[in-house]
Amino acid sequence: MAVPGTTAVDNHLIETLPPLREVVQNYDLNPKRTLGQNFLFDLNLTRRIARASGPLEGVSVVEIGPGPGGLTRALLLEGAKRVIAVERDERCLPALEDITRASAGRFTAVLGDALETDLNALLEGVDGPKRICANLPYNVGTSLLTSWLEAPNWPPWFDRLTLMFQREVAERIVATPAQRADYGRLAVLCNWRCETKILFDVPPTAFTPPPKIMSSVVQLVPRLTPLPCIGRHLSQVTQSAFGQRRKMLRQSLKSLGVDTLQLLAMAEIAPEKRAEEIDVAGFVRLTNVFTTLLQAKMNVVP
Ligand code: SAM
Repeated sequence: MAVPGTTAVDNHLIETLPPLREVVQNYDLNPKRTLGQNFLFDLNLTRRIARASGPLEGVSVVEIGPGPGGLTRALLLEGAKRVIAVERDERCLPALEDITRASAGRFTAVLGDALETDLNALLEGVDGPKRICANLPYNVGTSLLTSWLEAPNWPPWFDRLTLMFQREVAERIVATPAQRADYGRLAVLCNWRCETKILFDVPPTAFTPPPKIMSSVVQLVPRLTPLPCIGRHLSQVTQSAFGQRRKMLRQSLKSLGVDTLQLLAMAEIAPEKRAEEIDVAGFVRLTNVFTTLLQAKMNVVP
């Protein structure tokens, strides 16, 4: 039954598509390691991932790297209004065209590199909530995430990210100073702008071919009002601080080119602290003082 205010979707043709194993064989899609191709064939699992991205009725989803289309089918079956997927490997297009035909206009595949694609532009003119859901290629997963979270305009066009990463990367995304080894620039950026959570693990055996390590599905929900600071400056501060993470901040922050002791005093952070002891709010304070000191420096008349 349709949710009030939405339209029921017709999935019967998607349900009649051949099993993914067969699709991969028929279209000769030998997985390429260089493209991070570890495919998911189990529709129960892909549907679980699609459901994890929230109720999808009336929602448009951007998927990165659909491959033969396991997660794509799941997103459509779970009721997404539209799915637009960016795939770099043109060998996957015939399999994706079969899904397009079965989707009654709900699915479009775009050939391209997601790192160079303006995802928001793909959904221009499409109304309703928009989100990203993907079993990301491991080689570019963190670069993609960082590029989405560094967007100058916030809140962004997506209301949620549901992404599969290697477990080790997932732990670095949700880390706090309590998990020192995992806590770094990625955690500060992610938790400054989003609420982050590991939803569940996916074992290597779920993939074809199986990777060596465990994977995890992570959820990131954009904060509507993140603590205010200039993202570019936050990036500079965390780069300096974590670039020499074993050193005290009074030493590691020297590369910022401002008076480090003054910076730390004004941000109310002890100069003996190390980067991994500073929480997101502390980094935001440091960033705002850094911005003030930079501006003062630029206005100084010699
Ligand atoms: N979604 C499929 C699944 O779950 O079975 C495939 C996931 S596989 C881990 C990653 C996919 O991303 C592959 O299909 C690969 O070709 C694609 N890919 C790799 N690099 C990409 C890039 N830069 N832009 C878009 N797609 C990319």
